[in-house]
Amino acid sequence: VLAPRSSVFRGRSRTDRVALVHSEPHVVVLGAGFGGVAAAEVLAEAPVRTTLVDVRYYNTFQPLLYQVATGGLNAGDIAYPLRNLLRTRPRLDFRCARVEGVDFAGKTVLLGDGGTLPYDSLVVATGAATNFFGVPGATEHSRAIYTLDDALAVRAEMFGQLEKADAAALGGGTPAVVVVGGGPTGVETAGALAELHAMAFGKVYRSLDPAMSRVVLVERRDGLLAGFDPRLSRYAAAELRRRGVEVRLGLAVEEVGAGAVRLRDLATGTEQQLACGLVVWAAGVGAGDVVGSLPPTLVDGGRLRVEPTLLVAGLGDDFAVGDAAAAPGPDGRPLPQLAQPAIQGGRHAAAQILRALEGRPPLPFSYRDKGIMATIGRHAAVAEVRVPALGGRAVRLRGRTAWLAWLGLHIVALLGGRNRSAVLLNWAWRYVAWRRGPRVIVGG
Ligand SMILES: Cc1cc2nc3c(=O)[nH]c(=O)nc-3n(C[C@H](O)[C@H](O)[C@H](O)COP(=O)(O)OP(=O)(O)OC[C@H]3O[C@@H](n4cnc5c(N)ncnc54)[C@H](O)[C@@H]3O)c2cc1C
Repeated sequence: VLAPRSSVFRGRSRTDRVALVHSEPHVVVLGAGFGGVAAAEVLAEAPVRTTLVDVRYYNTFQPLLYQVATGGLNAGDIAYPLRNLLRTRPRLDFRCARVEGVDFAGKTVLLGDGGTLPYDSLVVATGAATNFFGVPGATEHSRAIYTLDDALAVRAEMFGQLEKADAAALGGGTPAVVVVGGGPTGVETAGALAELHAMAFGKVYRSLDPAMSRVVLVERRDGLLAGFDPRLSRYAAAELRRRGVEVRLGLAVEEVGAGAVRLRDLATGTEQQLACGLVVWAAGVGAGDVVGSLPPTLVDGGRLRVEPTLLVAGLGDDFAVGDAAAAPGPDGRPLPQLAQPAIQGGRHAAAQILRALEGRPPLPFSYRDKGIMATIGRHAAVAEVRVPALGGRAVRLRGRTAWLAWLGLHIVALLGGRNRSAVLLNWAWRYVAWRRGPRVIVGG
């Protein structure tokens, strides 16, 4: 079933080809992120008509959003136009629209533009959304880095503040930047900001002194990078501190105001106020709008309940994958909200839809853990790579080796040759021209 079937199109007229595709079962994939694109790529090679739906006309490579936010990459370098997927896939179609809801009983997707999409099989892959955990003022006064628009907004605000500070202060600093959340996104953002301060202040922002410009990383746990080996977490904290980041552990953000955050020390209960110019919110994710619109009986912890096959529990024949689904991992707990579970889940759901068309029952999803990694900055990263030859045991890397592994993996994982080349060129240029100061990208 997974073998390419494009040969049936050969010699047919355009009208015939459209009629043929429309006579085939219709699969709708909601969300064109890691999971949705992986599912659509498998389905497009089979005798089904697939419609990929996304509110954006491009796929976003979220792991590098923080580099767009800190001026290291161009927005276009990590965005892939979804219609490019259609060029060599006659059975795949794309619909740019917001999904407002799903009528599971009527097998119809409800779109924000008033349209509807009837389907035979469905894959929900609409991801998650920023979770502000109900912290007062967080939605209004902090900035998330979840979408390309978010990243560009952070970049505009940050560089605007730098210009103001440079004009105002001779030998002074900038208002502090507070990064909330010590997971990979928080660590990577704080590391990139510290690098920018160290490279740019006194050099291209001549009035600003890096020693007087704070980047504060706040985490409520007593260590960074939950899920990593504690030695790698400690290395990440030490390396960030060495680069000038104030790593503040065991502190909960109680309130975000205009120009300050209120923090509570979880050990002592004491509170403190921290003046700042920008709060970057990287504290976690919660239910996306599509999952939020579905009956609460289908949802657990902001994600759709799914069976081991990735079928939505209680529905029967609709699948959910990636961040939107609480797919059970080997220990019974939901798999982490990362790219690999989404990609592998998307491929699995697609393969099960094709099995069902042949009258075969769905197989359980078996996740292959390839490891986790996070970068801190130039020549510093941490990685736990699962090696099949060692029975899946984790090999722990840190420093330059982990950094090179991180760079290589992110280049390979990007969609599209143009984006890979652009990112590689930008990184290579930055590496070579390092001593000449920052190369801040502010293009669209
Ligand atoms: C800043 C950041 C950094 C990250 N870094 C890493 C990393 O280094 N490594 C890693 O493994 N993972 C990382 N992740 C997590 C990883 O990106 C996600 O786990 C992954 O994207 C999940 O894939 P998905 O397909 O489930 O959802 P997504 O990739 O989020 O895709 C969901 C899609 O659904 C669309 N959508 C949402 N709602 C609607 C709607 N109502 N109508 C239509 N379309 C809709 C969205 O536009 C989006 O295209 C990071 C995430 C973020 C935010």
